[in-house]
Amino acid sequence: RLELETDLRRSLRDNEHLRQKIHDLQLRGEDYSALNSQFPVYYQPIVDLPSGRIAGFEALVRWEHPQRGRVFPGEFIPLAEETGEIIPLGAWVLEEACRQVRQWQQQIPGCEHLTIAINLSGKQFNQLDLLDTIATTLELTQLDPHCVKLEITESVVMDEVEAAIAMLNKMKALNVKLGIDDFGTGYSSLSYLHQFPTDTLKVDRSFVSRMEQGEDKRAIVKTIIDLAHNLNMEVVAEGIETPEELARLRSLACEYGQGYFFAKPLPKHEATALLHSNPRW
Ligand code: C2E
Ligand code: CA
Ligand code: CA
Ligand code: CA
Repeated sequence: RLELETDLRRSLRDNEHLRQKIHDLQLRGEDYSALNSQFPVYYQPIVDLPSGRIAGFEALVRWEHPQRGRVFPGEFIPLAEETGEIIPLGAWVLEEACRQVRQWQQQIPGCEHLTIAINLSGKQFNQLDLLDTIATTLELTQLDPHCVKLEITESVVMDEVEAAIAMLNKMKALNVKLGIDDFGTGYSSLSYLHQFPTDTLKVDRSFVSRMEQGEDKRAIVKTIIDLAHNLNMEVVAEGIETPEELARLRSLACEYGQGYFFAKPLPKHEATALLHSNPRW
């Protein structure tokens, strides 16, 4: 386990091509096949629960490691944070996902308002450059900023609350939507929550999967949803795996859902096919 980590860390750090490739990508605009095959972006549908239709996707990056095969983000994102590679990698995911969603909006009937949720790591969030990166990407891809939702985990925003609020306000000025990810898993100071200019709370999967264990577990999910609504935020429940969980969340007036019950994160051609089939859950 430790050996694998050291190996991946070295491989990320020694990946001198990553920065260069991203640089080239920004210069050439079109030719990104190398990067695209090494760090493909997967898309998991986010479903509008009242209508049962796809409202958008969350972008989830993978690493197709030449020797190791597919490496999941839980394993390499922390390493990319350590080596600093998360900055160019995060910029790549942002650009690729925005470009893809713009294309779906233009090419698939009924997808004009499709949204894209993109994860930001703590290191990205704490760099003022991020604002430029977001603005440039929106300009380049011509995607409506209202269709972009940037997700920051609760632990990152709670780390230095005042600085986080200032940064969130600057991001908000770019007209993008903001979401707090993994809500309920960290230290959440409820006294600060109303000061965050955030549009969405994402209920962590751990709460959703415990919901069927009893009334007290359901009360927690209901409380988070009611809290969000009282603060004028919408709720996304992640990790929905069963029809029972889906029905329960609908009855609690949760706006959006995401999970294996609908679909796993999909490579872009599969996400395209899913959109064309216009599913309804
Ligand atoms: P997250 O943001 O909480 O993303 C949700 C994770 O839950 C994804 O794992 C997704 O595949 C998984 N998931 C979704 N529905 C279900 C379900 O019904 N059951 C189960 N068991 N799992 C479900 P994934 O893709 O492995 O990503 C893990 C984490 O890595 C993400 O957690 C996110 O924090 C991070 N991550 C992924 N892509 C990026 C990225 O581009 N940038 C940054 N900074 N972080 C990323
Ligand atoms: Ca997320
Ligand atoms: Ca999450
Ligand atoms: Ca989570």
